[in-house]
Formats: sequence, structure tokens, C-alpha cells
Amino acid sequence: MAKMQQLIAANWKMNKTIKEAVSFISEFKKLIKNIKNVEIVICPPFTSLQVVSNELKGSNIDLGAQNMNFEDSGAYTGEISPLMLKEIGCEYVILGHSERRESGENDSLINKKVIAALNHGLKPILCVGETFEQRRHGGTEDELEDQLLKCLKDVANPKGLVVAYEPVWAISRGNPSQKAATKADAEDAHLFIRKLLEGMYGEEAAKNTRIIYGGSMKPENAKELLAMPNIDGGLVGNASLDAKSFAEIVEAVG
Ligand code: PEP
Repeated sequence: MAKMQQLIAANWKMNKTIKEAVSFISEFKKLIKNIKNVEIVICPPFTSLQVVSNELKGSNIDLGAQNMNFEDSGAYTGEISPLMLKEIGCEYVILGHSERRESGENDSLINKKVIAALNHGLKPILCVGETFEQRRHGGTEDELEDQLLKCLKDVANPKGLVVAYEPVWAISRGNPSQKAATKADAEDAHLFIRKLLEGMYGEEAAKNTRIIYGGSMKPENAKELLAMPNIDGGLVGNASLDAKSFAEIVEAVG
């Protein structure tokens, strides 16, 4: 079975000033100018979205945000709405990242955000993943199923949805020596997610929904992870902060 076009997304988290973002984009665009077979997304912090949006015009790189509120507007101090992200040129939005779950987001809130994103034509990159304790006790599949069912409640059509399998224990948190999941463990989880999507939306929709891997993906391990049959791309944190290393990951797509 031919794979769909892979998606490699950079999650910069709370990194890069506007000046640093502009200099990254200028270097990165040169490095990937001949790459046509990969969809690339950059998710900078809110403060750099506008300037990165301008810098990406005319390129083959898409813009994404790292979070959003589910309301269009209102008295929500410090929040950003889907309308605002659309206006600025975002195509994607990361939702349900484990670092946000740790600071209080639950599946029901993430579900509202997924629905709002899809309603506004934003493609959600929905993060799901188990903790080390859950994996140790054999609870990986239960946790993935629970998160996926709750976060996709009342989502009738998953068109545009991307699921990011991000085992919480593999996320680098800035530590370049952190180990990623093995390609076999990652593939097992991706296949399990694919089967869940199949049960929810049917075989065709599940086949057309990208399931990408996140957690210490770097130039050294990207090729073997991205070659697995059910891994359709990567969500990259730490290794996306350097233009050369992010470009090497993009180049690792076969
Ligand atoms: C992430 O947190 O989304 C992520 C993939 O981070 P890292 O690549 O640094 O593990």
C-alpha cells in the first residue's frame, strides 16, 4: 500500500524571539528548497505567528499554532481564538499536547477545541500518548483508546485531522540525549490508533488520516521511524529548533 504524503511539523514550544524565527526561516527555506514530497509545518509561539506567516508566503511550508481557545471571541484573558489563527494564515493547530495536559487540559476541553478547529477549517494535530507508568503497567492501548474516543467525541468527519502519537516518556523536554520510542513500539501504537480510527470512521477515512510520531525524533532516528508502514510523519520539538537538523529530518522522508 502506497503511503500518503508525509507531514513533518516543528513544535517550537516557548522558543525563539521574532528575530530568531526570521533567521531560522531564511536558512531553512534554502535548505529544503528542492524537497517536494513532504508537507512541512512550522508551529512557532503566538508572538511570531504573523512574521513567520509573512516569511512563509510563496514557500511550500505551512504555518501552525501550538494551541487555541474553542470560542471565537469573548472575555478569555490571554487566549487566542480559531478566527485569529485563520486570519493570520494558520493551516494547522496542535491540540492536546502533553505539556498542556499537565497544566490542566483534559480530554473534554481538547474535544471542544478539535471541533472548533475543524469547524473553522483548521487542521488539528491532536496529540495522544501514554505516560511511562501507564506503559509499565501495560496500559498503553487503554490510554490511547480513552484519549482518542474522548477527544474525537461528536467529530463525525475526521477530514483534515492529524493524530500525533506522542509517548509522554519519550518527549525530550530539551534533552537531546532522551531516547525515542523504538520503531517497533511506535509502529505498534500507530497501528493500534489506525485500527481505532477504522472502527470510528471506516477503513477509507482511517487510511487517509495521517498518524505522525512525536518524542525525541532527530536526524539520527528519523529515517527508521518514518519508514514504518503506519508512521505518516513526525512532530518534532527540540530537533526542530535548529534549521539544519530540522531539514535533515525532512530529508529523511524516503
Ligand atoms: C513534542 O513535545 O511535541 C516533541 C515532539 O518534543 P521533542 O521532539 O523535543 O521530544
